[in-house]
Amino acid sequence: MNQPIYSLVIPIYNEEENITEMYSRLINVMEQLDGDVELILIDDGSCDRSLSMIRELHHHDSRVRYLSLARNFGHQVAVTAGLNFAQGKSIIVMDADLQDPPELILTMIDKWHEGYQVVYAQRISRQKESWLKRFTAYLFYRLLKRLAQVDIPVDTGDFCLMDRQVVDILNAMPERNRYIRGLRAWVGFRQTSVLFERNPRYAGDVKYTFTKSFSLAIDGIISFSKVPLRVATYLGLLSATIALIMILLVLYWRIFAPVSPLIGYTLITIAMFFLGSVQLICIGILGEYIGRIYEEVKGRPLYTLKETGGFTKT
Ligand code: UDP
Ligand code: MG
Repeated sequence: MNQPIYSLVIPIYNEEENITEMYSRLINVMEQLDGDVELILIDDGSCDRSLSMIRELHHHDSRVRYLSLARNFGHQVAVTAGLNFAQGKSIIVMDADLQDPPELILTMIDKWHEGYQVVYAQRISRQKESWLKRFTAYLFYRLLKRLAQVDIPVDTGDFCLMDRQVVDILNAMPERNRYIRGLRAWVGFRQTSVLFERNPRYAGDVKYTFTKSFSLAIDGIISFSKVPLRVATYLGLLSATIALIMILLVLYWRIFAPVSPLIGYTLITIAMFFLGSVQLICIGILGEYIGRIYEEVKGRPLYTLKETGGFTKT
């Protein structure tokens, strides 16, 4: 196949129940495209039949190329691997569970033809996801928007189209902490959104556990904001103010009150715990940043590959 115009990048972690349906929906979309397509499936260390199903697809359809990571590296890294290998002029990232409707790709491509380099899908609603997920996601995206130095649009996931130019920049970024939706916003260029309803999963369980989502959220904030570092200063100022008020109160009681209402141990204990927690929170925040510096400094590769199919370069 010549160099494809479109690359579809799809990370897959234990999605055996979704692969067949996803492929057949994609085939429909691929037939309507105005150029060659490569379908890049990234097996993120699945332990079900996903990899063998992917191999199967590759054998009977030469447009299907695949990467298999040597273990589970996580969604963001799997997508990064796909972007490293994609050769198209226009690269589309989507999930394998059909929560991102493949038909929307056509609308994204229209926008690309209009000259946008990044077209991201923005959710107007989420169906059948727990209220906890919807509520925490709602809060998180708004918090991130307030804290982040770049304007990261709310309610957007990784479902998007990116021009070759943008992907080349992402690929050249050395950082290990890949919060793709943030990096994508950071790059700039002409960006636009298309709105969509996030469907429920076609089959299978969500692979992003609460802990994984939480750590992705922390990654997003720490990678794109220095505000948490300032929290230490604010907390310090707050506790200093409280201490000052207390000193003034004590002086007042000593001089003017006939009986001092000081309550001894209780007050001291509370003050101790308060200061202790302020300090621990600040150390924790510092630790988050230092831990990331440590990760970057080690400079290990982002992922290891155990198998590829259909690529000339490996
Ligand atoms: N995924 C992955 N590695 C992981 C977790 C998830 O490649 O460690 C893939 C998964 O197969 C799916 C996509 O990332 O294609 C999104 O995962 P999921 O549907 O569980 O998350 P959500 O839709 O809640 O964001
Ligand atoms: Mg999903």
